[in-house]
Amino acid sequence: MGLKYRRVLLKLSGEALMGDREYGIDPFFISELADEIKSVYEIGAEIAIVIGGGNIFRGVKGSSMGMDRATADYMGMLATVMNALALQDILEKKEVPTRVMSAIEMRQIAEPYIRRRAIRHLEKGRIVIFAAGTGSPFFTTDTTGALRAAEIKADVLLKATKVDGIYDKDPVKHPDAKLLKEITYLEAINKDLKVMDHTALTLCMENNLPIVVFNIKKKGNIMKILLGEPIGSIVR
Ligand code: UDP
Repeated sequence: MGLKYRRVLLKLSGEALMGDREYGIDPFFISELADEIKSVYEIGAEIAIVIGGGNIFRGVKGSSMGMDRATADYMGMLATVMNALALQDILEKKEVPTRVMSAIEMRQIAEPYIRRRAIRHLEKGRIVIFAAGTGSPFFTTDTTGALRAAEIKADVLLKATKVDGIYDKDPVKHPDAKLLKEITYLEAINKDLKVMDHTALTLCMENNLPIVVFNIKKKGNIMKILLGEPIGSIVR
């Protein structure tokens, strides 16, 4: 089967595991997500995943409660490790081989992140789940997605969201918001279109890494994107 993108970095926010809950992980939803990932794995895509932690803890929330920002961010990074393990567990129950690689060493539960080793895992047909963000506070997992995608030379960064793509204004608040099928990095940055944070966008721009923003709630979208269908919005 002809794949438009062969090596992909899938950025999932913690909320993608939450389903319709307000917090934590929804077992039904994460299972559906794993089925979708497995389907593209089976047609030969090399898949790396960066998982967020917002369903459990966000650094900005901690600092708004008076915590030191860096400490709160480390808690956020630990939250991503929990999500990574949950995703690994469900994928392996579906017989998809995976490796979790953590940017913060915790050898008992995950491999340390080593770039060349991550690439080797992908070549050997393992799904690699990157945990603990960049390992540094003051960054986001979107930026981690851009960074890891550049490091492993991914063909595309797939940014999963709850809406169909990038809009000229917030589609949840404005029913007349228009879906933008294709925009440039600079448009995304200058118009502040809330695609990803600016650090992540700049990194993608500097590395000519296309970003496809798509709706993760619609089944089959990842497959369609990899097969070349114009799903969602593209930033390039
Ligand atoms: N985080 C961090 N450095 C990183 C990545 C993440 O400090 O490189 C922290 C930060 O506190 C963030 C939290 O981990 O709020 C969870 O990540 P994020 O908010 O990006 O998750 P998502 O919104 O994708 O669920």
